[in-house]
Amino acid sequence: MSEPIRSCVGCGRKAGQSELLRFVAKDGLLVSGTTDPGRGAYTCRRLACFERAVSRRAFNRALRQTVRVDQKLTSLYT
Ligand SMILES: [Zn+2]
Repeated sequence: MSEPIRSCVGCGRKAGQSELLRFVAKDGLLVSGTTDPGRGAYTCRRLACFERAVSRRAFNRALRQTVRVDQKLTSLYT
């Protein structure tokens, strides 16, 4: 069985979905969501990738909308 391959929006690395953290946009806010329907954005499980994605507005591109990023999301990486 093969799992879907996704790209990290921070560094561009491709990996199996289960290796990555998934985010979705909910009411304009970036939230962590492994099962939420709709378009998702992925990062490696490394804070550096998250921060890089934020600084490059990569989440906005991946999710095709402007999302607010709550800094509390960084706790997902510790
Ligand atoms: Zn990455």
